Amino acid sequence: MADQGHGVVVGLDNGGTTNNATVLDSAGRFLVDHMLETHSLVQEGPEKAIEALARAFAGVLEVTGTPTASVLAVGLDTPGPASANGVISARGAVNFLHPAWRAFDIRGALEDRLGLPVIYNNDANAAALYAHYMRLGRNATSRSSVSVIVGTGLGGGVIESGRVVRGAVGMAGELGHVRIPTEGLLAPGQPVPVCNCGLPGDAESFASLTGITKNLLPYWLTRFPGHELGEREPAVAAKLVRALGEAGDPMALEIFGQQAVALGRLLSIAANFTDPHMYFLGGGVVETSPAFRDWFLAKVRDHTDLREEQQRAATFALVPDLDMAGARGAAIAARETLGLWREVPR
Ligand SMILES: [Zn+2]
Repeated sequence: MADQGHGVVVGLDNGGTTNNATVLDSAGRFLVDHMLETHSLVQEGPEKAIEALARAFAGVLEVTGTPTASVLAVGLDTPGPASANGVISARGAVNFLHPAWRAFDIRGALEDRLGLPVIYNNDANAAALYAHYMRLGRNATSRSSVSVIVGTGLGGGVIESGRVVRGAVGMAGELGHVRIPTEGLLAPGQPVPVCNCGLPGDAESFASLTGITKNLLPYWLTRFPGHELGEREPAVAAKLVRALGEAGDPMALEIFGQQAVALGRLLSIAANFTDPHMYFLGGGVVETSPAFRDWFLAKVRDHTDLREEQQRAATFALVPDLDMAGARGAAIAARETLGLWREVPR
């Protein structure tokens, strides 16, 4: 075993179809500057998926010329819902449909397979941690942040003094299912959106791809009769809204505007809970044109109700390198858990 000061940690980001991997060295440098994707085989059940993760681990060591003996720990992230210790929900999870995944301890299984400590986080928490450490650098361990990541659902992450707030059963930071005030947010005649979790008017019911498909698009199409998206299958149409928004389509801008206001209302609640130094926004919007994402971020900020002192202290920013954020955040979590965090250069 290498001495702790010079050892590295490996970050593995497990997704529904692919794994991405990285290595974080003792100087706080990532040894991989691009996506290193391999098939995750998650749909084929835990046994094959654990082997796929072991291959991703071996692969990233090979690519970076890192000896196995220098690896101190592995950071792993997966989509939720899972416990704080990486036990997949017993009720099943969208990304883990195979029945053998139910209540499966993915963290423990990988730890047994690799013979190394494995530190688990859900994907939103890993991305939140990455954004936090990249942006705050040497101050990361003394600052706080709240991240919202708009994807199929709305993921969240709350970081306090450089650590993920997990809660009693790993459900802290599930910001998508916080209900927000809808007064003045809904347009005339617009029904209160309902989330997949069953709650009416929570943040995810507005600010997610699912929210667009099920709630926002069906309503806004009634306000824009003859719109081109009216012809398309809802799930297909929802994915086209982003590009239309960038191109200035008035209906798409209404939809994104409503999402931005919803996110601002959510962050207003966060401001009263943890009063963070930083507010991060991630998801597909990060990959849009600078003009569009600046407009969106500014709109979120304008609708986040902060006290005067908070306005002076708080910063709003995008989650950087979004596709690599999971693996990198998982690696940071492993390093931080070992008590070996050092500043990551920008
Ligand atoms: Zn919900």
